[in-house]
Amino acid sequence: MTADAALVPPDPGVSEALARERAAAISSVRYQLQFLIPPERAERVTGNVTVRFVLRPASQVVLDFEQPRDHVGKVAVNGAAVEPAFINGHIVFPSSALKAGENSIAIEFVSGDEALNRNDDFLYTLFVPARARLAFPCFDQPDLKARYRLQVALHPNLDWEVVSNGEEGLRTFSSNRYFSFVETPPLPTYLFSFAAGKFSIDTAERNGRTFRMFHRETDTAKVARNRETLFDLHAKALAWLEDYTGIKYPWGKFDFVLIPSFQFGGMEHAGAIFYNASSMMLDESATQNQLLSRASTIAHETAHMWFGDLVTMRWFNDVWMKEVMANFMAAKIVNPSFPEVDHELRFLLAYYPGAYTIDRTAGANPIRQPLANLNEAGSLYGNIIYDKAPIIMRQLEQILGERVFRDGLREYLKKFAYSNATWLDLVKILDDRTPENLAAWSRAWVEQRGRPQIVSNHLKT
Ligand SMILES: [Zn+2]
Repeated sequence: MTADAALVPPDPGVSEALARERAAAISSVRYQLQFLIPPERAERVTGNVTVRFVLRPASQVVLDFEQPRDHVGKVAVNGAAVEPAFINGHIVFPSSALKAGENSIAIEFVSGDEALNRNDDFLYTLFVPARARLAFPCFDQPDLKARYRLQVALHPNLDWEVVSNGEEGLRTFSSNRYFSFVETPPLPTYLFSFAAGKFSIDTAERNGRTFRMFHRETDTAKVARNRETLFDLHAKALAWLEDYTGIKYPWGKFDFVLIPSFQFGGMEHAGAIFYNASSMMLDESATQNQLLSRASTIAHETAHMWFGDLVTMRWFNDVWMKEVMANFMAAKIVNPSFPEVDHELRFLLAYYPGAYTIDRTAGANPIRQPLANLNEAGSLYGNIIYDKAPIIMRQLEQILGERVFRDGLREYLKKFAYSNATWLDLVKILDDRTPENLAAWSRAWVEQRGRPQIVSNHLKT
């Protein structure tokens, strides 16, 4: 079909220009989502989505769906069937098809397998940084947070469990096995997730809260050896973070899922953290390094429930910020439990050589760098983000003092809760709490490349 003459064709991927336009035109996003899981891995996962949102007058609407045209079935806008345009991995609706204010778009789709991690006995989604658009039509950018109401329908042959961000509501068994989840608080697409499969569920009570662990470990002795520690580590991190931030755990229930051969150490899906099973279920012969690493990973992912999940970067150029903050909190939570380790020496050896090696070269990039399109997000990662950023976060706390730094973080989390913020939003809050010129410090250390050149006195004038 030919596109409406009034359509502005969006670029492939998710460009910053598209994200900015959408964030200005669209608000109050809600997804009602259903996925149907077939009995055989070779068959496609299908689904339907109804996305509701408030639209500014005279705006076209671009949904991201990076699949061939034939993966889209019926499409309706505000109840009436329409033929949208399919351009560069997007489904595009002209402004004439929509109205100012509340709208709904309903779409039947066939998911691609790329972000579903399908195995014979289980599957799990992993949508970071912008891969939700491979599985369902959505606004795949971090600052269009949405509430999700999910239903997963399993073929009756699949005797599986399902876990997602929201609390499980009704289970109904008719032609399929339906798992419905209560609507989530506002989440970015990269944190929306579910896992379905043959999982055992262990539960435990800690400090009046129920924790659930989903796992596929069949060695009962191994489970028995690790389970209490895994619950303890989560409960301890949670209590510490509630105290430090002054904000109660924001996601209702707390589940975690141990996944064989998971791509990362962990992923901070709100209310349902995913981990690599092998680094959680340890052998009797586990080394101190493995124990420290496990405790740090758990504290890191739990810290993300506030740093990254409750307050999310506006765009992925600030992804370093949530990572560094989660590591920073994890060190505070975990290090005192390992007094025999020289944590200062470890920090020095882990970060300084790598940071200097790159930062003194002509090709060094700043910590904060532009990102024109989410399909280039992988290029941000390197020694500067991994090694230099942790050093500057420590420096920031030293400049301000522990208490002022903590109080600034509390204000930041409260002010931007369930919303988005940039690094500069945080700098502004902290800058107001110190006589030092933090804006100049941030320019020298974070926004400019290379080792900083600071004019002797950088007090505010
Ligand atoms: Zn992280």
